[in-house]
Amino acid sequence: MEESDLIIIHSCAVTASAEKKTRNLISKAKNSNPKAKIALMGCFVDVSKDIEKYAELNQVLPNDLKMDLASILSGEFQEHRELKFHPAYSRNMRTRSFLKIQDGCDHFCTYCTVAHARGRSRSDSIEAVLKNIQKIIDSGFKEIIFTGVNIGTFGIQNNESFTELITAVDQKFTGSGIRIRTGSIEPELLSEEIINITSKSEVIMPHFHLPLQSGCDEVLERMKRRYNTALYTEKCSLIKEKIPQAAIAADLIVGFPGETDDEFQETYDFLNSIPISYIHAFTYSDRPLAKASSFPEKVSPQTTKERMNQIVELTKAKELEFYKENLGSTRKILTESRSKDGFIFGFSDNYIKCAVDENLVGRNEVFDGRLHHIEADFVVIA
Ligand code: SF4
Repeated sequence: MEESDLIIIHSCAVTASAEKKTRNLISKAKNSNPKAKIALMGCFVDVSKDIEKYAELNQVLPNDLKMDLASILSGEFQEHRELKFHPAYSRNMRTRSFLKIQDGCDHFCTYCTVAHARGRSRSDSIEAVLKNIQKIIDSGFKEIIFTGVNIGTFGIQNNESFTELITAVDQKFTGSGIRIRTGSIEPELLSEEIINITSKSEVIMPHFHLPLQSGCDEVLERMKRRYNTALYTEKCSLIKEKIPQAAIAADLIVGFPGETDDEFQETYDFLNSIPISYIHAFTYSDRPLAKASSFPEKVSPQTTKERMNQIVELTKAKELEFYKENLGSTRKILTESRSKDGFIFGFSDNYIKCAVDENLVGRNEVFDGRLHHIEADFVVIA
Protein backbone atom coordinates (compact mmCIF):
# COMPACT_ATOMS: atom_id res chain seq x y z
CA MET A 1 0.00 0.00 0.00
CA GLU A 2 1.50 3.37 -1.01
CA GLU A 3 2.16 6.09 1.53
CA SER A 4 -1.07 8.02 2.16
CA ASP A 5 -2.55 10.58 4.57
CA LEU A 6 -5.98 9.03 4.46
CA ILE A 7 -7.08 5.48 3.67
CA ILE A 8 -10.75 4.75 3.03
CA ILE A 9 -11.79 1.11 3.15
CA HIS A 10 -15.15 0.28 1.63
CA SER A 11 -16.09 -2.99 3.31
CA CYS A 12 -18.30 -5.92 2.50
CA ALA A 13 -19.83 -8.40 4.95
CA VAL A 14 -21.66 -10.75 2.67
CA THR A 15 -19.45 -13.74 3.47
CA ALA A 16 -17.19 -14.69 6.36
CA SER A 17 -14.26 -14.43 3.97
CA ALA A 18 -15.22 -10.85 3.01
CA GLU A 19 -15.27 -9.96 6.71
CA LYS A 20 -11.87 -11.57 7.22
CA LYS A 21 -10.46 -9.63 4.28
CA THR A 22 -11.78 -6.39 5.77
CA ARG A 23 -10.12 -7.14 9.11
CA ASN A 24 -6.83 -7.97 7.35
CA LEU A 25 -7.05 -4.84 5.25
CA ILE A 26 -7.52 -2.66 8.35
CA SER A 27 -4.34 -4.07 9.97
CA LYS A 28 -2.42 -3.91 6.69
CA ALA A 29 -3.43 -0.26 6.19
CA LYS A 30 -2.27 0.67 9.70
CA ASN A 31 0.98 -1.29 9.53
CA SER A 32 2.01 0.05 6.14
CA ASN A 33 0.89 3.64 6.88
CA PRO A 34 1.14 4.18 10.64
CA LYS A 35 0.49 7.92 10.32
CA ALA A 36 -2.48 7.70 7.96
CA LYS A 37 -6.05 8.25 9.11
CA ILE A 38 -8.22 5.24 8.35
CA ALA A 39 -11.93 5.44 7.59
CA LEU A 40 -14.05 2.31 7.24
CA MET A 41 -17.40 2.37 5.49
CA GLY A 42 -19.86 -0.15 4.08
CA CYS A 43 -21.73 -3.20 5.30
CA PHE A 44 -19.08 -4.49 7.71
CA VAL A 45 -19.73 -1.34 9.76
CA ASP A 46 -23.46 -2.04 9.76
CA VAL A 47 -23.36 -5.65 10.90
CA SER A 48 -20.27 -5.79 13.11
CA LYS A 49 -21.24 -5.76 16.76
CA ASP A 50 -18.00 -4.31 18.08
CA ILE A 51 -16.71 -2.06 15.32
CA GLU A 52 -15.97 0.74 17.78
CA LYS A 53 -13.30 -1.47 19.36
CA TYR A 54 -11.04 -1.36 16.26
CA ALA A 55 -8.40 0.97 17.61
CA GLU A 56 -6.85 1.46 14.15
CA LEU A 57 -9.93 3.21 12.79
CA ASN A 58 -10.24 6.97 12.97
CA GLN A 59 -13.71 7.04 11.45
CA VAL A 60 -16.48 4.51 10.89
CA LEU A 61 -19.28 5.29 8.47
CA PRO A 62 -22.37 3.14 8.32
CA ASN A 63 -24.17 2.91 4.97
CA ASP A 64 -26.61 5.69 5.81
CA LEU A 65 -23.70 8.12 6.29
CA LYS A 66 -21.39 7.13 3.46
CA MET A 67 -22.70 9.79 1.10
CA ASP A 68 -21.57 12.32 3.74
CA LEU A 69 -17.99 11.04 3.63
CA ALA A 70 -16.49 14.28 2.32
CA SER A 71 -18.25 16.54 4.83
CA ILE A 72 -17.45 14.22 7.73
CA LEU A 73 -13.77 14.01 6.86
CA SER A 74 -13.52 17.76 6.33
CA GLY A 75 -15.18 18.36 9.71
CA GLU A 76 -18.18 20.14 8.17
CA PHE A 77 -20.65 17.41 8.97
CA GLN A 78 -23.57 18.42 11.21
CA GLU A 79 -23.55 15.63 13.68
CA HIS A 80 -27.03 16.12 15.06
CA ARG A 81 -29.11 16.25 11.93
CA GLU A 82 -31.88 13.69 11.54
CA LEU A 83 -30.80 10.45 9.88
CA LYS A 84 -32.83 7.58 8.55
CA PHE A 85 -32.45 4.09 9.91
CA HIS A 86 -31.22 1.44 7.47
CA PRO A 87 -31.74 -2.14 8.63
CA ALA A 88 -29.19 -4.83 7.78
CA TYR A 89 -28.55 -8.42 8.67
CA SER A 90 -25.73 -10.84 8.07
CA ARG A 91 -26.13 -14.13 6.24
CA ASN A 92 -22.53 -15.25 6.35
CA MET A 93 -22.71 -17.80 9.17
CA ARG A 94 -24.91 -20.83 8.84
CA THR A 95 -26.41 -20.78 12.33
CA ARG A 96 -26.39 -17.19 13.54
CA SER A 97 -27.39 -13.92 11.97
CA PHE A 98 -26.64 -10.43 13.26
CA LEU A 99 -29.68 -8.18 12.87
CA LYS A 100 -29.17 -4.44 13.16
CA ILE A 101 -32.13 -2.93 15.01
CA GLN A 102 -30.74 0.41 16.13
CA ASP A 103 -28.03 2.92 15.23
CA GLY A 104 -26.51 6.09 16.64
CA CYS A 105 -26.34 7.41 20.18
CA ASP A 106 -27.35 10.58 22.03
CA HIS A 107 -24.68 10.21 24.70
CA PHE A 108 -21.13 11.52 24.65
CA CYS A 109 -18.98 9.18 26.71
CA THR A 110 -15.58 10.82 26.74
CA TYR A 111 -13.72 7.92 25.08
CA CYS A 112 -16.25 7.36 22.30
CA THR A 113 -16.78 8.94 18.90
CA VAL A 114 -19.95 7.11 17.96
CA ALA A 115 -22.27 10.02 18.57
CA HIS A 116 -20.04 12.20 16.35
CA ALA A 117 -19.77 9.65 13.55
CA ARG A 118 -23.17 7.99 13.57
CA GLY A 119 -25.57 10.71 14.63
CA ARG A 120 -28.51 10.49 17.00
CA SER A 121 -30.18 7.30 18.17
CA ARG A 122 -32.66 5.89 15.69
CA SER A 123 -34.05 2.45 15.09
CA ASP A 124 -36.29 0.25 13.05
CA SER A 125 -39.98 -0.06 13.93
CA ILE A 126 -41.10 -3.10 15.92
CA GLU A 127 -43.17 -4.20 12.93
CA ALA A 128 -40.12 -4.08 10.62
CA VAL A 129 -37.92 -5.98 13.11
CA LEU A 130 -40.56 -8.73 13.36
CA LYS A 131 -40.64 -9.01 9.56
CA ASN A 132 -36.84 -9.20 9.37
CA ILE A 133 -36.75 -11.90 12.04
CA GLN A 134 -39.25 -13.93 10.01
CA LYS A 135 -37.10 -13.52 6.86
CA ILE A 136 -34.02 -14.70 8.77
CA ILE A 137 -35.91 -17.73 10.13
CA ASP A 138 -37.13 -18.51 6.59
CA SER A 139 -33.49 -18.54 5.43
CA GLY A 140 -32.77 -21.37 7.88
CA PHE A 141 -31.09 -19.55 10.78
CA LYS A 142 -31.64 -20.73 14.35
CA GLU A 143 -30.18 -17.78 16.22
CA ILE A 144 -30.28 -14.00 15.87
CA ILE A 145 -28.13 -11.48 17.67
CA PHE A 146 -29.50 -7.97 17.85
CA THR A 147 -26.91 -5.34 17.07
CA GLY A 148 -26.92 -1.61 17.50
CA VAL A 149 -24.89 1.13 19.05
CA ASN A 150 -27.11 1.75 22.06
CA ILE A 151 -29.82 -0.90 21.87
CA GLY A 152 -31.47 0.13 25.13
CA THR A 153 -32.60 3.34 23.40
CA PHE A 154 -34.45 1.33 20.72
CA GLY A 155 -37.68 3.03 19.67
CA ILE A 156 -37.18 6.46 21.22
CA GLN A 157 -37.79 8.13 17.86
CA ASN A 158 -40.94 6.14 17.09
CA ASN A 159 -42.55 6.21 20.55
CA GLU A 160 -41.73 2.54 20.97
CA SER A 161 -39.34 0.88 23.40
CA PHE A 162 -36.96 -2.01 23.71
CA THR A 163 -39.28 -3.61 26.29
CA GLU A 164 -42.16 -3.46 23.81
CA LEU A 165 -39.91 -4.93 21.14
CA ILE A 166 -38.91 -8.00 23.15
CA THR A 167 -42.50 -8.47 24.35
CA ALA A 168 -43.67 -8.53 20.72
CA VAL A 169 -40.79 -10.81 19.68
CA ASP A 170 -41.57 -13.21 22.52
CA GLN A 171 -45.28 -13.34 21.65
CA LYS A 172 -44.78 -13.79 17.92
CA PHE A 173 -41.92 -16.29 17.91
CA THR A 174 -42.60 -18.57 20.87
CA GLY A 175 -42.75 -22.08 19.39
CA SER A 176 -40.81 -21.10 16.26
CA GLY A 177 -37.50 -22.50 17.57
CA ILE A 178 -35.60 -19.23 17.02
CA ARG A 179 -33.21 -18.00 19.74
CA ILE A 180 -32.52 -14.31 20.18
CA ARG A 181 -29.63 -12.68 21.99
CA THR A 182 -30.39 -9.10 22.88
CA GLY A 183 -26.86 -7.69 22.53
CA SER A 184 -25.29 -5.02 24.66
CA ILE A 185 -27.60 -2.89 26.85
CA GLU A 186 -26.32 0.01 28.95
CA PRO A 187 -26.76 -0.82 32.67
CA GLU A 188 -29.02 2.18 33.39
CA LEU A 189 -31.33 1.10 30.55
CA LEU A 190 -31.65 -2.54 31.59
CA SER A 191 -35.00 -2.50 33.38
CA GLU A 192 -36.47 -5.08 35.73
CA GLU A 193 -39.17 -5.63 33.10
CA ILE A 194 -36.58 -6.64 30.47
CA ILE A 195 -35.08 -9.12 32.94
CA ASN A 196 -38.57 -10.47 33.82
CA ILE A 197 -39.52 -10.97 30.17
CA THR A 198 -36.20 -12.74 29.52
CA SER A 199 -36.69 -14.98 32.57
CA LYS A 200 -40.00 -16.30 31.21
CA SER A 201 -39.15 -16.42 27.51
CA GLU A 202 -38.01 -19.38 25.46
CA VAL A 203 -37.07 -17.03 22.62
CA ILE A 204 -34.92 -14.43 24.43
CA MET A 205 -31.76 -16.12 25.69
CA PRO A 206 -30.57 -15.77 29.32
CA HIS A 207 -27.45 -13.93 28.21
CA PHE A 208 -26.87 -10.30 29.17
CA HIS A 209 -24.14 -8.05 27.86
CA LEU A 210 -23.70 -5.15 30.27
CA PRO A 211 -20.94 -2.67 29.44
CA LEU A 212 -19.03 -1.77 32.61
CA GLN A 213 -15.89 0.00 31.26
CA SER A 214 -14.51 0.63 34.77
CA GLY A 215 -15.20 -0.67 38.25
CA CYS A 216 -14.11 2.61 39.85
CA ASP A 217 -16.72 5.37 40.27
CA GLU A 218 -14.23 8.21 39.76
CA VAL A 219 -13.13 6.74 36.42
CA LEU A 220 -16.77 6.17 35.39
CA GLU A 221 -17.39 9.82 36.09
CA ARG A 222 -14.43 10.88 33.94
CA MET A 223 -15.76 8.61 31.20
CA LYS A 224 -19.16 10.37 31.55
CA ARG A 225 -20.94 7.07 31.99
CA ARG A 226 -24.48 7.22 33.35
CA TYR A 227 -24.23 4.71 36.20
CA ASN A 228 -21.99 3.86 39.08
CA THR A 229 -20.77 0.57 40.50
CA ALA A 230 -23.70 0.42 42.95
CA LEU A 231 -26.20 0.46 40.09
CA TYR A 232 -24.18 -2.11 38.14
CA THR A 233 -24.13 -4.42 41.17
CA GLU A 234 -27.88 -3.97 41.58
CA LYS A 235 -28.51 -4.99 37.95
CA CYS A 236 -26.27 -8.07 38.23
CA SER A 237 -28.03 -9.14 41.46
CA LEU A 238 -31.44 -8.68 39.87
CA ILE A 239 -30.45 -10.81 36.88
CA LYS A 240 -29.10 -13.57 39.10
CA GLU A 241 -32.14 -13.45 41.40
CA LYS A 242 -34.54 -13.95 38.48
CA ILE A 243 -32.31 -16.18 36.28
CA PRO A 244 -29.60 -17.84 38.41
CA GLN A 245 -27.85 -19.48 35.44
CA ALA A 246 -27.83 -16.39 33.22
CA ALA A 247 -24.56 -15.37 31.59
CA ILE A 248 -23.45 -11.80 32.20
CA ALA A 249 -20.67 -10.37 30.04
CA ALA A 250 -18.97 -7.10 30.99
CA ASP A 251 -17.05 -4.77 28.65
CA LEU A 252 -14.00 -3.12 30.13
CA ILE A 253 -11.55 -0.41 29.05
CA VAL A 254 -8.07 -0.87 30.48
CA GLY A 255 -5.71 2.12 30.79
CA PHE A 256 -8.20 5.01 30.53
CA PRO A 257 -6.31 8.34 30.87
CA GLY A 258 -5.50 9.05 34.50
CA GLU A 259 -6.36 5.52 35.71
CA THR A 260 -4.09 5.12 38.74
CA ASP A 261 -2.84 1.84 40.20
CA ASP A 262 -5.39 2.21 43.01
CA GLU A 263 -8.22 2.88 40.56
CA PHE A 264 -7.25 -0.15 38.52
CA GLN A 265 -7.09 -2.25 41.69
CA GLU A 266 -10.58 -1.03 42.58
CA THR A 267 -11.80 -2.13 39.16
CA TYR A 268 -10.14 -5.51 39.53
CA ASP A 269 -11.63 -6.08 43.00
CA PHE A 270 -15.05 -4.95 41.80
CA LEU A 271 -14.99 -7.35 38.84
CA ASN A 272 -13.88 -10.12 41.15
CA SER A 273 -16.78 -9.45 43.52
CA ILE A 274 -19.70 -9.47 41.05
CA PRO A 275 -21.33 -12.52 39.42
CA ILE A 276 -20.17 -11.91 35.86
CA SER A 277 -19.25 -14.78 33.55
CA TYR A 278 -16.99 -13.06 31.00
CA ILE A 279 -15.01 -9.86 30.61
CA HIS A 280 -14.48 -8.37 27.15
CA ALA A 281 -11.48 -6.15 27.84
CA PHE A 282 -10.03 -3.59 25.44
CA THR A 283 -7.04 -1.36 25.89
CA TYR A 284 -7.82 2.35 25.79
CA SER A 285 -6.79 4.10 22.61
CA ASP A 286 -7.05 7.77 21.72
CA ARG A 287 -9.72 8.67 19.17
CA PRO A 288 -9.59 12.05 17.48
CA LEU A 289 -12.89 13.83 18.34
CA ALA A 290 -13.24 11.91 21.62
CA LYS A 291 -12.89 14.20 24.62
CA ALA A 292 -10.61 11.79 26.48
CA SER A 293 -7.93 12.07 23.79
CA SER A 294 -7.09 15.50 25.26
CA PHE A 295 -7.01 14.21 28.85
CA PRO A 296 -3.58 14.38 30.49
CA GLU A 297 -1.82 11.56 32.35
CA LYS A 298 -2.01 8.91 29.67
CA VAL A 299 -1.30 5.43 31.03
CA SER A 300 1.90 3.99 29.57
CA PRO A 301 1.61 1.06 27.13
CA GLN A 302 3.66 -1.09 29.53
CA THR A 303 1.35 -0.44 32.50
CA THR A 304 -1.72 -0.97 30.30
CA LYS A 305 -0.28 -4.28 29.14
CA GLU A 306 0.40 -5.44 32.71
CA ARG A 307 -3.13 -4.51 33.77
CA MET A 308 -4.54 -6.25 30.72
CA ASN A 309 -2.66 -9.44 31.62
CA GLN A 310 -4.28 -9.42 35.06
CA ILE A 311 -7.72 -8.97 33.49
CA VAL A 312 -7.09 -11.82 31.05
CA GLU A 313 -6.32 -14.11 34.00
CA LEU A 314 -9.39 -12.86 35.85
CA THR A 315 -11.69 -13.49 32.92
CA LYS A 316 -10.37 -17.06 32.61
CA ALA A 317 -11.12 -17.60 36.31
CA LYS A 318 -14.60 -16.07 35.98
CA GLU A 319 -15.41 -18.22 32.96
CA LEU A 320 -14.22 -21.35 34.74
CA GLU A 321 -16.31 -20.51 37.81
CA PHE A 322 -19.36 -20.01 35.59
CA TYR A 323 -18.77 -23.29 33.74
CA LYS A 324 -18.40 -25.15 37.08
CA GLU A 325 -21.67 -23.70 38.39
CA ASN A 326 -23.40 -25.13 35.33
CA LEU A 327 -21.92 -28.64 35.38
CA GLY A 328 -24.57 -31.32 35.77
CA SER A 329 -27.33 -29.08 34.35
CA THR A 330 -29.14 -29.69 31.07
CA ARG A 331 -29.20 -26.76 28.65
CA LYS A 332 -30.44 -26.13 25.14
CA ILE A 333 -27.42 -26.11 22.82
CA LEU A 334 -27.25 -24.93 19.23
CA THR A 335 -24.56 -26.74 17.24
CA GLU A 336 -22.55 -24.86 14.65
CA SER A 337 -21.12 -26.05 11.39
CA ARG A 338 -17.52 -26.59 12.40
CA SER A 339 -16.22 -29.81 13.94
CA LYS A 340 -12.80 -30.84 15.24
CA ASP A 341 -11.35 -34.03 16.70
CA GLY A 342 -14.73 -35.78 16.48
CA PHE A 343 -16.58 -32.98 18.31
CA ILE A 344 -19.16 -30.52 17.03
CA PHE A 345 -19.07 -27.20 18.85
CA GLY A 346 -21.94 -24.95 19.80
CA PHE A 347 -23.25 -22.61 22.46
CA SER A 348 -25.79 -23.21 25.19
CA ASP A 349 -28.70 -20.80 25.71
CA ASN A 350 -26.61 -19.16 28.48
CA TYR A 351 -23.60 -18.87 26.21
CA ILE A 352 -21.38 -21.70 27.37
CA LYS A 353 -19.15 -23.10 24.66
CA CYS A 354 -19.98 -26.81 24.41
CA ALA A 355 -18.60 -29.78 22.50
CA VAL A 356 -20.56 -32.89 21.63
CA ASP A 357 -19.65 -36.15 19.88
CA GLU A 358 -20.33 -35.55 16.18
CA ASN A 359 -22.03 -38.93 15.87
CA LEU A 360 -24.72 -37.92 18.36
CA VAL A 361 -26.07 -34.73 16.83
CA GLY A 362 -26.16 -32.93 13.48
CA ARG A 363 -25.05 -29.45 12.55
CA ASN A 364 -27.23 -26.36 13.09
CA GLU A 365 -29.49 -28.25 15.51
CA VAL A 366 -30.82 -27.35 18.94
CA PHE A 367 -30.72 -30.23 21.42
CA ASP A 368 -30.90 -30.77 25.18
CA GLY A 369 -27.42 -31.58 26.46
CA ARG A 370 -26.09 -32.37 29.92
CA LEU A 371 -22.97 -30.39 30.79
CA HIS A 372 -20.61 -33.14 31.90
CA HIS A 373 -17.04 -31.90 32.33
CA ILE A 374 -14.71 -29.06 31.41
CA GLU A 375 -11.92 -29.42 28.88
CA ALA A 376 -9.69 -26.51 27.81
CA ASP A 377 -12.11 -23.62 27.19
CA PHE A 378 -15.29 -25.61 26.62
CA VAL A 379 -17.67 -28.03 28.34
CA VAL A 380 -18.16 -31.56 27.06
CA ILE A 381 -21.71 -32.81 26.68
CA ALA A 382 -22.34 -36.43 27.71
S1 SF4 B 1 -23.38 5.04 25.27
FE1 SF4 B 1 -21.35 6.02 25.29
S2 SF4 B 1 -19.98 4.36 24.65
FE2 SF4 B 1 -22.03 3.72 24.06
S3 SF4 B 1 -22.22 4.44 21.96
FE3 SF4 B 1 -23.08 6.04 23.25
S4 SF4 B 1 -21.38 7.46 23.57
FE4 SF4 B 1 -20.49 5.55 22.82
